[in-house]
Amino acid sequence: MSKSNDQSLLSLLIAANEQLSRTSETAMLDAEVLLCHCLNKNRSFLRAWPEHQPSEEQIAQFQILVEQRAQGTPVAYLTGQREFWSRNFKVSPDVLIPRPDTELLIELSLSLLPTDQPCKIIDLGTGSGIIAITLAAERPLTQVFASDLSSAALDVARYNAQQLKAGNVRFAQSHWFDNIEETGFDLVLSNPPYIADNDPHLTIGDVRFEPDSALISPDNGLQDIRQLAEQARTHLKDQGQLLIEHGYNQQTEVQAIFHECGYRQINTHADLSGNPRVTSG
Ligand code: GLN
Repeated sequence: MSKSNDQSLLSLLIAANEQLSRTSETAMLDAEVLLCHCLNKNRSFLRAWPEHQPSEEQIAQFQILVEQRAQGTPVAYLTGQREFWSRNFKVSPDVLIPRPDTELLIELSLSLLPTDQPCKIIDLGTGSGIIAITLAAERPLTQVFASDLSSAALDVARYNAQQLKAGNVRFAQSHWFDNIEETGFDLVLSNPPYIADNDPHLTIGDVRFEPDSALISPDNGLQDIRQLAEQARTHLKDQGQLLIEHGYNQQTEVQAIFHECGYRQINTHADLSGNPRVTSG
């Protein structure tokens, strides 16, 4: 970042935007979020006080973060947090960064979970816990289970559950259902890894810094979905439903897997952009 005597918020942002625009499509937004993080203020503060001069420590911290962002590190890993369904979740490089795409899975789940009756649900491969914790908070009567293979991810999820006061979530370390004895679930949910290892999407942007175990699945991205669909059968109650997020181009294959595993009433649901992204059965 170019050094000048003017160290106002506005000039810091202009310099950071210039530095980041070579590698980020959201350079100004990134700069603003990182500056807010260093100042411990929100973005309206930047608008209201463009001439404010931060402390030297704040400027130094900002310049380090901008440099890391320029090298490609996702903003959420630099600030250690990301908002999802209006709640702030801690994130670390051990977990996938929450994406707006996953709100479709939440919307569908909320439409299936009554507010006045206790239900039992499980989120497999919970990562930072966004699905389990959001549903636990929105449906306090629901008994929520969550699992992940990664103990580091479970630490993040447990921290989020505690911070967000989602006391009704029970966590377990498990590869899909391998260590889960509980049965009779109303809903089994997952945003599993579903990207093929040769997908060029993996070589650009933030995904390069995210855990492969949360992104990549063998067999053209379908192996984990198949395993989940097979295992979920014996853990669902009668009329229970499996809901899985997948890639926009996997609808046919995922529906075929659901059929092979004996699911009925198989539907694929589209996200806001009209892409088929969640299959239920
Ligand atoms: N939708 C994410 C992406 O394209 C991947 C999420 C996942 O594999 N579960 O980056």
